[in-house]
Amino acid sequence: MTKKHLLFIAFIFMLVGMVDAQEKDYTKPKTTEVHEPIPAKVTTGKMNSAPSDAIVLFDGTNLDNWVGARDSLAAKWILNKDGSMTVKNGSGDIQTKQNFGDIQLHIEWRNPATPRAKGQNRANSGVFFQGRYEVQVLDNYDNITYANGQAGSVYKQHIPLVNASKPSGEWQTYDIIYHAPKFDQIGRKTKSATVTVLHNGVLIQDHVVIYGTTEYIGIPKNNPHGKGPLKLQDHNDNSGVSYRNIWVREL
Ligand code: MG
Repeated sequence: MTKKHLLFIAFIFMLVGMVDAQEKDYTKPKTTEVHEPIPAKVTTGKMNSAPSDAIVLFDGTNLDNWVGARDSLAAKWILNKDGSMTVKNGSGDIQTKQNFGDIQLHIEWRNPATPRAKGQNRANSGVFFQGRYEVQVLDNYDNITYANGQAGSVYKQHIPLVNASKPSGEWQTYDIIYHAPKFDQIGRKTKSATVTVLHNGVLIQDHVVIYGTTEYIGIPKNNPHGKGPLKLQDHNDNSGVSYRNIWVREL
């Protein structure tokens, strides 16, 4: 390379540097403005109703998006006239036909107005992400049980920050941000799942790590998996739990 070439290259660098310095004039407000990407517009409806880009899993009209978790046949839970569904005791868990990874979930649930039992047997159900990881549904308004198994717990892994339960018989909401775990080629977990839960609008799980499957007995398991269904639990003890207005947004 000749001296002429070197000088020319140095000149180009100087020019680029000048342009760069101009662009990075932090005394100007525009320097720190970012214009792209432009967030997609979504339309929102009444409070808690699905935004325009959501996948509605249950709107009260039918159980078409759900199947029995045991047999993959039509979901047997009870469809009510008020736009809700109720666990049919002993019929088993139900799960979505569609599989999901990372999602935002909105779900509303209600315990029987007259409590039927105590502890873990008072309106026990649950929301399972990817069919494996349970955020507990339980009537804990006036009902003591182990703290890492109460409503809003990541079952046997994380105690909710507060007890935001409403009285028995009132509709309650969960708004949940769930991020799926990641596994490498040989099935080792490289990233744990995380979950953030708002119960009736109150933050009760703040981006906590899910250690693995939420086991009743024993320690969490971490077998590799891909996308999985959203599952709702039939705890098989006449829980009487109802659900309505269920939608997700894939993240
Ligand atoms: Mg449960």
